[in-house]
Amino acid sequence: MASTSRWPAALWVPAACAWGGCGRPAGVDVLATVPGEPPRLALRVGGFCVGHAVIVGIDTQARDGGEVWYAAPLGMARWR
Ligand SMILES: [Zn+2]
Repeated sequence: MASTSRWPAALWVPAACAWGGCGRPAGVDVLATVPGEPPRLALRVGGFCVGHAVIVGIDTQARDGGEVWYAAPLGMARWR
């Protein structure tokens, strides 16, 4: 019974937010659809923390005019 670690961190290592200089764990995947194309062709913009995901989503939508989707990986379902 040597293993008493409460936090098996090795099981899941969060990627960092793709926003330059942010450094927070990326909890949200931002996806953007191309106007006129089905959602399954959505392009992955990147993984961001919640705050930056919103900013990137709005920015992407304004620029490309497509629909923006947010996907939370299961590992972050209990975040905060
Ligand atoms: Zn961020």
